[in-house]
Amino acid sequence: MRLSIVVPCYNEEAVLGETLARLGRLLEELCEAGQIAADSELVFVDDGSRDRTWALIEAASRSSPWVRGLKLSRNRGHQQAVLAGLMLARGDATISVDADLQDDLGAIPAMLKAHAGGAEIVYGVRKRRDTDTFFKRATAEGYYRLLARLGVEIVFNHADYRLLGRRAVEALREYREVNLFLRGVIPQLGFTTAQVYYDRAERFAGESKYPLSKMLGLAWQGVTSFSTMPLRLITSLGLLISLASFGITLWALWVRLFSDSSVPGWASTVVPIYLLGGIQLLCIGIIGEYLAKTYVETKRRPLFHIEHDTAAVSTAGGARVQDLARQQA
Ligand code: UDP
Ligand code: MG
Repeated sequence: MRLSIVVPCYNEEAVLGETLARLGRLLEELCEAGQIAADSELVFVDDGSRDRTWALIEAASRSSPWVRGLKLSRNRGHQQAVLAGLMLARGDATISVDADLQDDLGAIPAMLKAHAGGAEIVYGVRKRRDTDTFFKRATAEGYYRLLARLGVEIVFNHADYRLLGRRAVEALREYREVNLFLRGVIPQLGFTTAQVYYDRAERFAGESKYPLSKMLGLAWQGVTSFSTMPLRLITSLGLLISLASFGITLWALWVRLFSDSSVPGWASTVVPIYLLGGIQLLCIGIIGEYLAKTYVETKRRPLFHIEHDTAAVSTAGGARVQDLARQQA
């Protein structure tokens, strides 16, 4: 089995030497153990770095047979860098991992084992987050809960450390979204999945490339790319206020007609305010419902992926034979 390890790098000159060495050693060991083919690769994606990152990658690609470098024409962000690596990877399985060695590489053999055991997607899940600050941990975990509540399917405490089999990568290729949030897209693919637990370490060297602003951007991306719940909430709110205003209207009329405590002009002022407010919100909500539909349609997400096709055996044509051979390998 040919393995591709995809590593997004943005201004990572401080850690890159160590990352290259460790990943190179890992591939050598796996290759010697016969777990992966000799034409496996380490795909380093330079996400428009401004330091010596690309120079290091280029040099490594000349000196090490494993290393392959991809340079994006400018900084596009972590998600896009990972996607670029996955789309160009040649392996039968791909593993994406951060350049800063925070994700324990020791989990990779377990991922390969789960993949050999039939899992098309293997999620790396953080066991504990002691190395993260309290703030980061609390916001991250709160965020995963919020997403779950908004109906977004995600894997709790899983970031972008995962194995994807060839079929999963090809399925991912069919998603043409510009607003990319891989953690949300991958669970949509389906297939047989497995989870591998690991401890998250401190960044080996250098500084985080994810300042709070980028983090918030990614978080918002997760909500708005996968949930139309906020729009739906407007409809509910509109309905609620409309009902309340209807009650208030009845009450104002009752006060006006059957008691003498009403101030002249009060009912005719108050009633339209509530009523119009409620109706307007409801109408915005209805527009929101259509907007939500349009939004979902514009994504053009694939409607299904085939996991198995028994006919593939009997009618095996050229491409299918290769597919089959790849699956059996
Ligand atoms: N990264 C990237 N492009 C960016 C920002 C980050 O490719 O615009 C890479 C970075 O080099 C690292 C990974 O994404 O390999 C995760 O970034 P980082 O470790 O800084 O995030 P943190 O672990 O602090 O959340
Ligand atoms: Mg990191």
